[in-house]
Amino acid sequence: MSRLLVTGAAGFLGSHLCDELLADGYEVIGMDNQVSGRTENLDDAFENDRFSFYDHDVTEFIHISGELDAVLHLASLASPVFYRDHPIKTLKVGALGTHKTLGLAKEKDATYLFTSTSEVYGDPEINPQPEEYRGNVDPYGPRSCYDESKRYGESLVRAYRDKHDLDVRVARIFNTYGPRMRLDDGRVIPNFAKQALTGRDLTVYGDGEQTRSFCYVSDMIRGLITLLESDVQSPVNIGNPDERTINELAESVLNIAGSESGLVHEELPPQDPQVRRPDISKAQRELGWSPQVPLGDGLKTSIEYFKTQL
Ligand code: NAD
Ligand code: UDP
Repeated sequence: MSRLLVTGAAGFLGSHLCDELLADGYEVIGMDNQVSGRTENLDDAFENDRFSFYDHDVTEFIHISGELDAVLHLASLASPVFYRDHPIKTLKVGALGTHKTLGLAKEKDATYLFTSTSEVYGDPEINPQPEEYRGNVDPYGPRSCYDESKRYGESLVRAYRDKHDLDVRVARIFNTYGPRMRLDDGRVIPNFAKQALTGRDLTVYGDGEQTRSFCYVSDMIRGLITLLESDVQSPVNIGNPDERTINELAESVLNIAGSESGLVHEELPPQDPQVRRPDISKAQRELGWSPQVPLGDGLKTSIEYFKTQL
């Protein structure tokens, strides 16, 4: 496998993935329409002559000349704030964008990697969530544009595998953080970091006792590449099972930033999942992958990055 297409390449995960694939010796084509991503995330990649970039909306027909060995589809709106603002774009990139990129993979006889999400489990009734859990998603709910687009995407990937014998991978990604997240992304770690660094109170939604499990970006990227290079065709959870309440996360950010800020409680967004923790036994067993970076270390590196973005 040597020549790859990465959609969503100018985003947070996509840009790190391009860098790592280039370091591993792959030829990488990045594609993004910059609806939420920024090409400055690709400054390092542009230095490499094995990298090229297309400014293109993946919901439109995609033409790539020459051979392709894999298509990695990361393009999406990914922050709850962005996908609430752009629900139709979110549905289109999950449905039409997944269809177009699958069609391209079929045309090129390429391996296809789909970046799904823990949100396919919705507001889960069991914790941690194994891959067999079928989820608790409200199809008409405020988050459904994202959750259902990813559920539909998984179904489309399955159909291409069954109907066209496409070689597929499905990563169910749990909350991931690190440098290159936008400060105005709206997700909890950039929000708390910006508030802590600018002396404003940290906005904890609801009572802050809801949980998430945060994976550092380098662990996630290694997990995605290990999955790509495996032969596992069914969905695999990739995330860090170290589960924290949002109150605990806020305290950690304040300590690491050395901030005097306090906490202010704001209304919990409707249908905000109460708990979330990956069961990663399948990734450990079938990929030999586990996350390595503790939350404190990852937060330290991220906060240093966020300082440069103020
Ligand atoms: P991101 O917003 O930083 O990156 C997504 C990129 O996709 C952006 O650069 C955006 O401009 C691009 N994009 C969106 N619509 C497009 C379109 N129609 N055509 C071309 N490009 C388009 O988000 P991220 O955190 O890097 O997420 C990457 C992928 O991982 C997404 O598919 C997301 O759903 C998934 N994911 C991420 C997390 C996480 O915690 N970061 C968790 C679960 C799943
Ligand atoms: N959250 C918060 N304050 C913020 C942003 C988010 O308390 O400023 C909470 C949010 O309600 C959720 C958790 O942090 O319970 C994670 O939110 P995020 O948007 O990062 O991702 P999600 O896991 O909900 O997709």
